[in-house]
Amino acid sequence: MSCCVLVLLPSSSTVLDKPSPLCHTLIQTHTTKTQAYRHRYSRPPPLPFRARPRLVRLLAPPALHHQQHHPRCLLHLSTPHDYKHRPMPLLSSSSTSSLPFLVIITISMLLLRYTTAFAFRSGSPPTTLPSLLRLCPHQRQRQTLRALVSSSSTPSSSKVGFIGLGYMGAGMVRRLLEKGDDVIVWNRSVEKSEKLLSEYPVAGRVSIATSPKQVLEEVGEGLTFSMLSTPAAAREVFHAPNGILAGIKKGSKLIDCATLEVKDMQAFDSAVKVKGGSFLEAPVSGSKVPAETGQLLFLTGGNEEVFEEAMPHLSAMGKASFFLGDTGKGTEMKLVVNMIMATMMSSLSEGLALADKANLSTEDVVKVLSLGAMANPLFNLKGPKIIKDDHTVNFPLKHAQKDLAFALALAEKVGVKVPAAAAANEGYVAALEQGEGEKDFSAVARVVMK
Ligand code: NAP
Repeated sequence: MSCCVLVLLPSSSTVLDKPSPLCHTLIQTHTTKTQAYRHRYSRPPPLPFRARPRLVRLLAPPALHHQQHHPRCLLHLSTPHDYKHRPMPLLSSSSTSSLPFLVIITISMLLLRYTTAFAFRSGSPPTTLPSLLRLCPHQRQRQTLRALVSSSSTPSSSKVGFIGLGYMGAGMVRRLLEKGDDVIVWNRSVEKSEKLLSEYPVAGRVSIATSPKQVLEEVGEGLTFSMLSTPAAAREVFHAPNGILAGIKKGSKLIDCATLEVKDMQAFDSAVKVKGGSFLEAPVSGSKVPAETGQLLFLTGGNEEVFEEAMPHLSAMGKASFFLGDTGKGTEMKLVVNMIMATMMSSLSEGLALADKANLSTEDVVKVLSLGAMANPLFNLKGPKIIKDDHTVNFPLKHAQKDLAFALALAEKVGVKVPAAAAANEGYVAALEQGEGEKDFSAVARVVMK
């Protein structure tokens, strides 16, 4: 049986094949997530979320989502330009009869007549996301397509493993539970697991494993996420006799979301592969609140099939996910991002210190910054807190310094000078020595503003 796949991508390239008469349709207007967000937070979702394109999915053989067994195709009648600036439904219906399908095809063919789209016709149409991705020559097209498939996926509930319920892991695992996944968790301090169990007492929603090994064993060929604090902690839990590696078997899938060094991720990847498992690094951008509200950014590298399988889960925990190549690339991206962030925080602290000593209002500095070209959520959020000396932890300073140190090592490895980040690091090291490590990384201001 053939299928219909039609995707208008950023440069209007089109993948098109004739629909099978056996196709039947499922048309989703993609408002479910928006409605859920409104319901929960009593306000419209943020723009990138709200502006996601409407999708029309055609249930037909073969599958775009190999994770779900009913095959489907994807029909997307919008361009990123449309959905960025004009989030409107091109098609909308909830019927499952074949009539809308014919209407859609007719409209799409009419639309195609008026585009400069390149029509790709093939005797064997792309049947999986990877094969469809291969038809997209540009990185941006591939990212768009992944985002489309991710946002169109009906969250399917499954059993997933989660190791590490710290500031980040606790929020992430709750997002998975809210999505409908059952989770088996392990955390060094069992109280955090027990707290989670008390929040989801229905049998089977949360199970507590006695070791990381047991998590992997119980999840089998499902996904296990790991979110531990430092490379030392991650290595310890990975190599322990009852640790992660001991539980890896053929078909196991491990996704490490911590910020570690590239060499750690690569070593985990190799060790998992040797035992027949698959590995994805997926460090996150965003701190405690984004973890709790499902607004993280996943910066991934490694096994692309695991990335695709994980997409519904990553979508539950984050607002965007990037697949950046081989294992190590996700971590490198994360280190670049955190180096910039830590340096910005240091710079903000210096600016506030300077203003204070020069008898300027620090509140005015924050206000001026917020209205100019340097306006950004980090300054808006942390500026007023620094002024009040409130460093309630979201992203612990000890982790910010760890990431800066890794970023400096990366810069040295690739031969790039980063003097501003190196100077910022000195402030974070001084703050650590001063005992500020468990506070938020904004506490670097305590050193700078002394
Ligand atoms: P965290 O709260 O300090 O710790 C995470 C987990 O690591 C906890 O569950 C902790 O267990 C466990 N752990 C620490 N040492 C251990 C050991 N020796 N053996 C076993 N378990 C150990 O860290 P987090 O803030 O969630 O951050 C997790 C990762 O995400 C880090 O790599 C961090 O750099 C990165 N990250 C954090 C943020 C943020 O804003 N916090 C943002 C982006 C990325 P216990 O509960 O028993 O202590």
